[in-house]
Amino acid sequence: MNLADRYVVIGNPIAHSKSPQIHARFAEQTAQTMLYDHLLAPIDGFDITLKAFIASGGRGANVTVPFKLEAFHAATELSSRARAAGAVNTLKFNNDEIFGDNTDGVGLVRDIVQNAKKEIRGQRLLLLGAGGAARGVLHVLMAEKPLQIVIANRTPERAYELVEQFSSDSSLVMQASSFSDLEGSFDMVINATSASLASELPAIPTSVFRPQTFVYDMMYSSGPTLFMQLATSHGALVRDGLGMLVEQAAESFFIWRGVRPETATVYQWLRAQL
Ligand code: NDP
Repeated sequence: MNLADRYVVIGNPIAHSKSPQIHARFAEQTAQTMLYDHLLAPIDGFDITLKAFIASGGRGANVTVPFKLEAFHAATELSSRARAAGAVNTLKFNNDEIFGDNTDGVGLVRDIVQNAKKEIRGQRLLLLGAGGAARGVLHVLMAEKPLQIVIANRTPERAYELVEQFSSDSSLVMQASSFSDLEGSFDMVINATSASLASELPAIPTSVFRPQTFVYDMMYSSGPTLFMQLATSHGALVRDGLGMLVEQAAESFFIWRGVRPETATVYQWLRAQL
């Protein structure tokens, strides 16, 4: 009997996750025999949930809020990008080995460079936020060699910590800032705060935008987020995080199955569902 390999996305809450729909499309497209479901873990029960899934024959998992740090600690092997991020969103199981990777940064960069056709190299970049998402993408953003990265966060101390941690092994110009101390405009602004989730705006000076600034909000919804609306009103070009979601999933799929799915049609299909 040809049993399907099983995968899950683990989180809490998890019912809203679009990953099962995305991976079902990828599997169909590449003729892979696999199943992919939601798996809700109790807030204090990530490890036990993960172990039970592995024991039942599971082959891999995506991990989302609030368990990316616990997934990092559960892994017995880590990719260099997961090690740099200090967080894991993709696990692959092989006998006793639990391999951990982080595909968020690759997902973001592919969506910006390949899909939106915007160069990161040589650009002055503003990264808003210093939480898990900002940490997860920083290493991969730096590898694209922007001219400068300024990290600004509502709690500035967290931005300073990130700069201290990441700038030690880089010749890139990196600076930390509070929102209110931000000066001048940027070529690219990436919103990695969760402000849009609460329909709020990070309290930044709008002088960071100028006409043609490329603005990326990691959040996505059926219409432009508040942040995208603000940026558009200052002449910026905007994009939401739906493409990042699809691209990070495609990278996880590649890690598990060794096949690269085509992402453009899945992106369009998902956009139409929002
Ligand atoms: P975290 O909870 O780890 O971090 C939240 C960050 O947002 C912190 O820097 C926090 O600042 C800041 N923040 C929260 N509320 C506000 C506000 N009202 N004003 C300004 N700053 C605020 O979340 P994540 O880093 O995991 O996620 C951030 C966002 O990225 C979410 O919207 C998430 O959906 C999105 N995301 C999208 C992905 C995709 O594939 N498209 C993948 C991963 C994440 P402080 O330190 O001061 O608390």
